[in-house]
Amino acid sequence: MFHQLLSLILLTAPHAISACQSHVSKPPLLWLADLRAGSAHIDSDVTPSLGEAPGRRLIRFEEGATPIPVSLDEKLELEKSGLRYFDVTEVDVEVVFRERIANDRSSLANRAIPSAPTHQAQVKPVIATLSQANLKTDLAELTSYKTRYYKSATGASSANALLAKLQTIASSAPGTGGAVSVSSFAHTWGMPSIIAKIAGTNASGAITIVGAHLDSINQANPASGVSAGADDNGSGCVNLIEAFRKLVAAGFKPTNPVEFHWYSGEEAGLLGSAAVSTSYSKANKAINAYMNLDMTAWLQTGTTPQIGFVSDRTNAGLTTFTKKLVPEYLSGVIATTDSCGYACSDHASWNSLGYAAVYPFESITQYENPNIHTATDTSTSVQFSFAHAHEFTKLVVAFLMELAL
Ligand SMILES: [Zn+2]
Repeated sequence: MFHQLLSLILLTAPHAISACQSHVSKPPLLWLADLRAGSAHIDSDVTPSLGEAPGRRLIRFEEGATPIPVSLDEKLELEKSGLRYFDVTEVDVEVVFRERIANDRSSLANRAIPSAPTHQAQVKPVIATLSQANLKTDLAELTSYKTRYYKSATGASSANALLAKLQTIASSAPGTGGAVSVSSFAHTWGMPSIIAKIAGTNASGAITIVGAHLDSINQANPASGVSAGADDNGSGCVNLIEAFRKLVAAGFKPTNPVEFHWYSGEEAGLLGSAAVSTSYSKANKAINAYMNLDMTAWLQTGTTPQIGFVSDRTNAGLTTFTKKLVPEYLSGVIATTDSCGYACSDHASWNSLGYAAVYPFESITQYENPNIHTATDTSTSVQFSFAHAHEFTKLVVAFLMELAL
C-alpha cells in the first residue's frame, strides 16, 4: 500500500505552496521514504531511535488516503519539515464524517447563504468601534511568550492568559448577562483550545464560527526554539479578540449563536480544530458556517492590498458571499482568489466534516509572509501591517453579524 500511495502522490501535481507552511516541494511520502532511508537531507539531530518500529502516530497526507503510522521521532521531523498533514491518531475527521452521515444525512443540507449583505445599519456602527491599537496591544501580549508551541509550558500559559482576558471581556458585557461565555477545551497535550460564545435568541440555531490557531512553531527547533508567531497566527488571534471585545461591548444579540475558537496544535497536524470540530459533529450540533483566519498582517511592499480567498477545501457559495463583504465594509483592499493545498489550516477540519468553510488569507500565497515558522516572525518588519490586519477584524464582525442576526 505504501508504494501504491507513493506512486499516486508522485504522479500528482507539485505540492501546493500555502498558508502556514514553509516552501517544501518534495511529495510527503517521498520525504518519508528518504527519512527512513536516512538520506542526506535529514537534519543531523535526528535521534538514533528513528529506526524504531513506527506506529505511534497516524498521519494522513492526502484526502482519502489510508493513514500512515510513524514513530514519535518521525512525527517530530514532520513538524520540522513544513509539510502539511492531518495527525489522525486521536480523531480522524474523515471517519467521523462518514459515521455521521451514515446515521443521518440531514446535517449535510446546505444552509441558506444570503445573496448579499443586508445588515449594514447594525454592522457599520460596530465596525466603527474597532481598534488597531488594541490589535497591537493584544499581539504584544501573545508574542511575549518564548513560544506558543502546543507541547510547551509557555503555549499552555498563553492559552490560559487568553482565557482570563476573554473572561474579563465577557464579565463586562452590558446587557448580555448570561449570554456570553468563555471556556477552555482540554486536549491530551498541555495547551488547551479556547472557545468564546455569544448565545442566540434561538438557542439551538445553527452556529456561525470564526476560528484561528493560537499555537506557534519554530520549525528548526520546535521543542525549545523561539517562536513569537506574530503573523502566524498571532494576527488572526487578535482579530478574533478585538471582534469579540467590540461585539460584546455593543451588546450584540444574534438570532443564532456565534462562537470564537482559538485552536491549539494546528502546527502539528490540525490537532485542536480536529478535536473541537469532531466533538461538535458527534454532538450533532447544527453548524451554519466556519471562517478561518490564519495570517492576516503581512503586506508585501509594492503589492496591492488584498484578501486572498482560498478556493480549495472551502465552500464556494460561502466564499462568494464573504467576498461581497469586502467592498461593502472594508477599505483599501480587494478580494482575490488562491489555493492552499491539503490540510493547510484549520478550515480543513470543518470542511472534512461536511460543514461550509471560508478562508480569507493575508494575500495570495505568492506574497505571503516569508518569515513564518522562524524566530523572525515578529511584528517589527515594515511589511507587518496592523492597518492590513485591521481590515480582517472588520471582516470578522461583518461575517458574524450578517450570518447570525
Ligand atoms: Zn498558521
